Amino acid sequence: MSELNGKVVVITGASSGIGETTARLLASLGAHVVIGARRMERLESLASDIQGDGGSVLIQQLDVTKLEQMQAIIGAAQSRFGRVDAIINNAGVMPLSSLEALKIEEWNRMIDVNIRGVLHGIATGLPVMKKQGFGHFINIASIGAYEVTPTATVYCATKYAVRAITDGLRQETVGQGIRVTLVSPGVTESELADSITDNQAREFMKEYRRNALPTTAIARAIVYALEQPVQVDVSELVIKPSM
Ligand code: NDP
Repeated sequence: MSELNGKVVVITGASSGIGETTARLLASLGAHVVIGARRMERLESLASDIQGDGGSVLIQQLDVTKLEQMQAIIGAAQSRFGRVDAIINNAGVMPLSSLEALKIEEWNRMIDVNIRGVLHGIATGLPVMKKQGFGHFINIASIGAYEVTPTATVYCATKYAVRAITDGLRQETVGQGIRVTLVSPGVTESELADSITDNQAREFMKEYRRNALPTTAIARAIVYALEQPVQVDVSELVIKPSM
């Protein structure tokens, strides 16, 4: 039986891509998955699949930029299952463009979802985990947290921030039973690039995404970190295509 059997895992941005696949995999291993995103119809369909396969799932509409909605999903997890073993701060957006295109609304959206969203997960989850004396944060960054690529300056800046926040969180929680993992995917098949409105960035991404990984590659990395014994903190995982 998996170490994850009976564990309560909250996943943000679970209506597609990496979050969706991770929810399916965790549920198949016996975890109670508590899944949030804005598109409820996607969550309902996913929940129906998971339940059809005998899994345990709770859905909650979630906009990670709104602190009260993050509080609501963590509260729902506690009410239904009595604990929160892990929070996967996965929700993210990537409307890429060059700085000179001045797509300021898109910069702000990336800052709000990719940085503020992760901070809201921490603000809500940390007091819960400290009280419990256990818990695990998995924050999803990107290879863009290590290197800036053309048209991705602001996106990379948000992911550098996620990496810094994750490192600081680990330093502050060490020895308290709380584990902190940064998962940084390379290019992965998902809906992430659909929000790109800039033609130059879209063309660049088409080429870049040719060797994209399947989402299962990232979901398996997340499961690896979660399945370790409590004394093991998998601090950072970077997953890239081998081709
Ligand atoms: P998807 O676009 O398929 O998934 C993104 C998820 O985030 C969706 O479920 C979306 O749901 C959700 N989301 C977006 N905005 C919000 C919001 N305000 N509140 C709550 N949920 C939100 O892309 P991926 O699966 O690829 O992305 C998952 C993570 O992986 C992101 O953090 C991304 O930056 C990161 N990543 C992805 C890579 C890739 O190549 N795919 C590479 C490196 C990192 P909804 O719209 O229903 O709210």
